[in-house]
Amino acid sequence: MRIIVLLGPPGAGKGTQAARLAADLGLAHIATGDLFRANVAAGTELGRLARDYMDRGALVPDDITLRMLLERLAEPDAAGGAVLDGFPRTRGQAEALDRALAARRAGVEAALYLEVPEDVLLARLADRWICEAAGHVYSHAARPPRVEGRCDLDGSPLVQRADDRPETVRARLARQLGPLAEVVAYYQGTGVLRRIDGTRSIEAVAAALRTALGSAQGARPATSGSRAGGPAA
Ligand code: AMP
Repeated sequence: MRIIVLLGPPGAGKGTQAARLAADLGLAHIATGDLFRANVAAGTELGRLARDYMDRGALVPDDITLRMLLERLAEPDAAGGAVLDGFPRTRGQAEALDRALAARRAGVEAALYLEVPEDVLLARLADRWICEAAGHVYSHAARPPRVEGRCDLDGSPLVQRADDRPETVRARLARQLGPLAEVVAYYQGTGVLRRIDGTRSIEAVAAALRTALGSAQGARPATSGSRAGGPAA
C-alpha cells in the first residue's frame, strides 16, 4: 500500500495537485475536507459533528477525523494506496496514521510539502470559486471560467466556500499554520519530508512533485519498516 501525504496551508494547491498525482499513480485521492463536506451535505451524524468546526475555520477533533480517514482508506479503491490531501493536519493525526499503517506493515512513503508565503495564500483564497454542483475549482488569476460565474464542466453557478470568505480565511490560516509546522517537523524527523515551491505554475509544481517522489523513493531507508519498495500490487 503506497501512502503519499500532500502537505500545505489552505490555498497552496493541494487539491489540484493531489487529484492529478493520484490519477497519474493510479492511487485513490482522499481529501478529508471533501469527505467532511460530503457528510455535511448528506446531513449525516458525522457531518453535524464537523459542521460547527468547519464554519468557524477550526480543525475538526482528531478522533473524529481519524476514524473517517481510516474508514475511507479501507474502501476497495484505496487497496493499492492513496494520496492524502488535507490529512494529517496535526502531529497527533500524523502519529496515529503512522501507527495505523505500521499495523498493516506499511508506512508513509513521502510527505510532499507545498510551500507558499502567507500573502500569496490570502490572495489565492480570496479568488477561489467552486461550482455548486460538483466542487470544480476556478480562480480569475489561474483558471478563469469560460463564462463568468458558471462552471465550464456542468454549467452550475460558481460560489465561494463559506470558509473562503475573507473574515474566515485569516482565522483558518492562523489556526492551521501552527499545527502544520508541527506536522512538517514530524515528517522531517521521520525522514520522508520533501519541500516543494508551491508558488510556481500548476504544471511546474506537478513536475516538481514527481521528481521529489522519485528522490523520496530512492532515499527511503531499507530499515524504515515501510513497504519494501517497487510498485504496489
Ligand atoms: P479543506 O477543504 O482541506 O480546507 O478542509 C475544510 C475544513 O474541513 C477544515 O477547515 C477543517 O474544519 C476540516 N478538516 C479537513 N481536514 C481536516 C483534518 N485532517 N483535521 C481536522 N479538520 C479537518
